Amino acid sequence: MTKLFSYQNRPMHMGPYALEKLKYTKQLPNYTTLPSMAPLAFIKPAAPLSIVNAMAEYQAMMDVIRDGVVKKQVASIPESPNERSQHLKSFGYFCDASMMGTCAIPDSAWLDQPYANPSVDRLSHALATKQISSLASGIDVVMAMLREAMQAPVTDCLHHSHALVFLYEYTRDAKTNEPGTDWLQDAQAQRAALRASESASVLSAYIRSLGFSARAHSASAAEVDLQHLAVAAGLCSIDGDTINNPYLGSRFGLAVVTTDLELASNDYLLAGQTPPLSSYLRPSHDRIRKPAQAYKQRRFVDGAMPFESIKRADQPTTYIDQANVQRVPKRADLFARSLFGDMGPKVQNAARNGNYVRKSASAFAFRQALGAFTLLQDGGKAPTVDPSVGDAQRNADNIKATAYWLGCDAVGISDCPDWVYYSHNAAGEAIVPYHNQAISIVIDQGHETMEGASGDDWISCAQSMRAYLRFSLLGGVLAQQIRNLGYSANVHTVMGSEVVQPPLTLLSGLGEVSRIGEVILNPFLGPRLKSGTVTTNMPMTHDKPIDFGLQKFCESCNKCARECPSGAITSGPKLMFNGYEIWKSDSQKCTTYRLTTEGGAMCGRCMKTCPWNLEGLFKELPFRWAASHLPRAAKTLA
Ligand code: SF4
Ligand code: SF4
Repeated sequence: MTKLFSYQNRPMHMGPYALEKLKYTKQLPNYTTLPSMAPLAFIKPAAPLSIVNAMAEYQAMMDVIRDGVVKKQVASIPESPNERSQHLKSFGYFCDASMMGTCAIPDSAWLDQPYANPSVDRLSHALATKQISSLASGIDVVMAMLREAMQAPVTDCLHHSHALVFLYEYTRDAKTNEPGTDWLQDAQAQRAALRASESASVLSAYIRSLGFSARAHSASAAEVDLQHLAVAAGLCSIDGDTINNPYLGSRFGLAVVTTDLELASNDYLLAGQTPPLSSYLRPSHDRIRKPAQAYKQRRFVDGAMPFESIKRADQPTTYIDQANVQRVPKRADLFARSLFGDMGPKVQNAARNGNYVRKSASAFAFRQALGAFTLLQDGGKAPTVDPSVGDAQRNADNIKATAYWLGCDAVGISDCPDWVYYSHNAAGEAIVPYHNQAISIVIDQGHETMEGASGDDWISCAQSMRAYLRFSLLGGVLAQQIRNLGYSANVHTVMGSEVVQPPLTLLSGLGEVSRIGEVILNPFLGPRLKSGTVTTNMPMTHDKPIDFGLQKFCESCNKCARECPSGAITSGPKLMFNGYEIWKSDSQKCTTYRLTTEGGAMCGRCMKTCPWNLEGLFKELPFRWAASHLPRAAKTLA
């Protein structure tokens, strides 16, 4: 039903659940019945195939970077604690929290015995001695950030007065014999904690960049009791020795940011209530809740979007002359060329130290975690291949279902031909193609912010960074799982990739080439996506490319070419370029504009204005049908 309704009139800070329809009280809750919270273990030695084991290093990394240096200059921010809370809650919902709350920290919330993640020391030691992979670029910046984070004094949060609480709901439990769910048993708590930690790391970095002290607390490393704070923030009520939320019961995980920034305090949730019926008959935030709702009816292995309704083809709708695709060095990448000064000092300065990200506090908040995850992109594998991964179809099912269960938006699998590898890495060393299988993953950049943006403004870079970080985390967990099973696997992220990703996205059936150029357009998300790749040699069955009529549509449409502020997008026909038949955009114009624009950080106006940038509502189905079947109507539809 919710697909019938748009969320667009609901303020972002109110989130996807109708918390405003619940009953609240000013009466102090009795915390004494709640036992002190125990740390959550991210290791399951008795279940070596469990995905939980693959989350361990990533969770530890987030527990390493949960604090850091506070910016000396204090930003101009609203005086009103209520307004501050609304901004921070909106940011939490942007990061996909199910529910957000703020409160003053009650004395009872401080733990007598803070708990630390036992994997952090091991990880810190490994990082100190790690041979940095040739995948990684900008590693010096990353290491400086990590050193800062590791040096943050442990006691430095005791003066914090307020807390921001993140609640992440569990997804559906895997059913007995459900295809692709071999690794997912008994892992909901860790999945929710991992996702909550990601957001808490980002928001704590954001608050520090505003000039206030802030530290993230997770289910595996904390100085505060997360459950007490969920009650204090009005998200849960106490039910004996446990806490409950009226919408979710106890099916959720938590994370917290404590800070010395004054925030608003919620009233307390009245215990023993059920949500009113009217709270379900209301618009829902599309991106946050729709996947969870979709999996009530759909198998994880199929994903939340109905890809089965899209026509498959033996070859991509874009001709690729594979024999004549020249492998290019990483140095030819426009961002690398900007850094080397090929486009002049203005562009070089904008690219240096990630200044084009740094100038937007909400975008830069993602950078610390993004950089830290770069250090986990590759690594050693188990000495022997687990006997359970001998079947290519079963492997593909497990990879896809796990990726969707973790929170990826679209997943496709293809071979990884030699011609998609860069010829040389960022250090100028020749790359010998090493993996023959590719898992392509797409993350939605978010309709709600795309709809509220002009495309080239201050949210664009944060949208990109959010999606890049999500892939780095979830793709990283998948790669680690493959390594735990005995096959090598590398993650190719925005900060370190040895493969050119658009052709892999194309081969794996996640979209078609669009007029925007190297942007692959997905039939359900339009061009509003970021992609990432995991490469491996683990055998998997492959997906076929898709054909939803986009080539003819883009031929007639031209809207992005008209809207592009830098004139980078061609309005002419497709051309052969380095073995690919594409609409060749002027990447230099686009990169220069994105790096140097003074009206914002980066740009995505082509994505914003494309008629395929849809919310995913029932009422939009006729557009999709007409766009796929009546390409000559493109101009009218656009
Ligand atoms: Fe902006 Fe580049 Fe897209 Fe043009 S092609 S609209 S400059 S992101
Ligand atoms: Fe294609 Fe039109 Fe979208 Fe451009 S705006 S990518 S031409 S559909």
